[in-house]
Amino acid sequence: MRLGFEHTYAALPARFFAAVPPTTTADARMVIFNRALWDELGLDPNVDETQAAALFSGNELAEDSTPIAMAYAGHQFGQFVPQLGDGRAILLGEVRGRDGVLRDIQLKGSGRTPFSRGGDGRAAIGPMLREYLISEAMHALGIPTTRSLAVVATGEQVYRQQILPGAVLTRVAASHIRVGTFQFFAARGDREALQTLLDYVISRHYPEAGAAEVPALALLEAVTKRQAFLIADWMRVGFIHGVMNTDNMALSGETIDYGPCAFMNSYDPQTVFSSIDLGGRYAYTNQPAIAQWNLARLAETFLPLIDADTNKAIELATGVVEDFVEHFEARFLECMRRKIGLVSEEDGDADLISRLLAAMQNAKADFTLAFSAISRAATSAGEAATLRTMFAGAAEIDEWLSDWHMRLSRDPQTPDQRAETLRLANPEFIPRNHQVEAALEAATSGDMQPFKRLLAVLQRPYDRQSEFEEYRLPPPPSEVPYKTF
Ligand code: AMP
Ligand code: MG
Ligand code: MG
Repeated sequence: MRLGFEHTYAALPARFFAAVPPTTTADARMVIFNRALWDELGLDPNVDETQAAALFSGNELAEDSTPIAMAYAGHQFGQFVPQLGDGRAILLGEVRGRDGVLRDIQLKGSGRTPFSRGGDGRAAIGPMLREYLISEAMHALGIPTTRSLAVVATGEQVYRQQILPGAVLTRVAASHIRVGTFQFFAARGDREALQTLLDYVISRHYPEAGAAEVPALALLEAVTKRQAFLIADWMRVGFIHGVMNTDNMALSGETIDYGPCAFMNSYDPQTVFSSIDLGGRYAYTNQPAIAQWNLARLAETFLPLIDADTNKAIELATGVVEDFVEHFEARFLECMRRKIGLVSEEDGDADLISRLLAAMQNAKADFTLAFSAISRAATSAGEAATLRTMFAGAAEIDEWLSDWHMRLSRDPQTPDQRAETLRLANPEFIPRNHQVEAALEAATSGDMQPFKRLLAVLQRPYDRQSEFEEYRLPPPPSEVPYKTF
């Protein structure tokens, strides 16, 4: 079988990757298949699920596949590791979708590679389904992300703290080039490879930068802007990535690597879910600063490509990375204005938004439900009561409501336009941790129905699906605090 693969990355010099096929598995049973994405990618409509399972377990290799594991390095929790690489992932090839965009098709959990270090190269079904669910939910929320095409059960056992059923996830990405990919070559003093990688990233993702006077600087600026937008997008829905190591930041600007990520329930800027993030390095509120730190690490690898005079290169690159703060704050403010129904701009808006967030934090209000209640209160006076209950009737929310209504009266939208602005800014449904866990538990023991139901709800996050009220609700207090790995 042929899938119409291209191999632009595998055509780069041999030191960019290791040529390695996926390991075959005992069995290949399709657990979930994203037929809609398959169609968007323009893949052969005649391929059935059994054939797809054979391909996406790694049991069968498409004739036109050139499987590789990509080389990269990375800062993990601030510590530099000069060699990481795809330790359990294999890039099968790239396909050009109906939209003309070239995307990677990668297996995750498909066996050992030269980059596996001590790992087994495998993945358990729970975490792979978790990535599938959350990445598809992020996509439906309108946030740039890698996508999930399939999860296939391997019929093998994976040894973690316990014995678990094994699975392979097929991930679709604009590319898998990370900050850590540049770091891999910078750490080796391989200037030629850095230039090759830079040219590749520009031609694949940021062709405009190629025409700039200093392409490396233009690329740094474009990547900085996209990351600022991405982090603002995460924060407007309460998403906490959880492991923003430099090997988990994609140059494309997509969210990548769904490990310990989770969505915040009650608003607290210090929220951390990952049990390995002991210092809270990747807490909700730290995400912009960490993204900027990662961009500084990227900028360091660009220096020789920016100017032969290192001091001059540092000065130029520093200026670009410093601008991250401005890009992020502007974008975040724009998102938050929409969350309270505004499209016009006034100087007092940032303060109005901060006061709301402070009141939310004081009342431990649920971030998603509070904004949903604001949506409703903006369009119907009777709904303000729900909002007041969430804030435990605090005087600060009454004062805020009155200032907000004054501000709304100076905003030019018609009531219908405002209702639509609010609807599109405030999801009703996010992947609630306790619901995700329940669905994964059922799936691990063989029942996919709860998973599929939850996935269907999360594919329409901005719609009021009143028949699925239980999916809107935060966990019962007994299930807090939630921890991920
Ligand atoms: P992550 O924490 O998912 O960003 O992964 C960090 C590094 O560990 C990457 O190089 C992965 O390929 C590698 N890795 C994670 N899990 C495994 C595994 N089960 N076997 C081999 N390598 C792994
Ligand atoms: Mg990773
Ligand atoms: Mg991972």
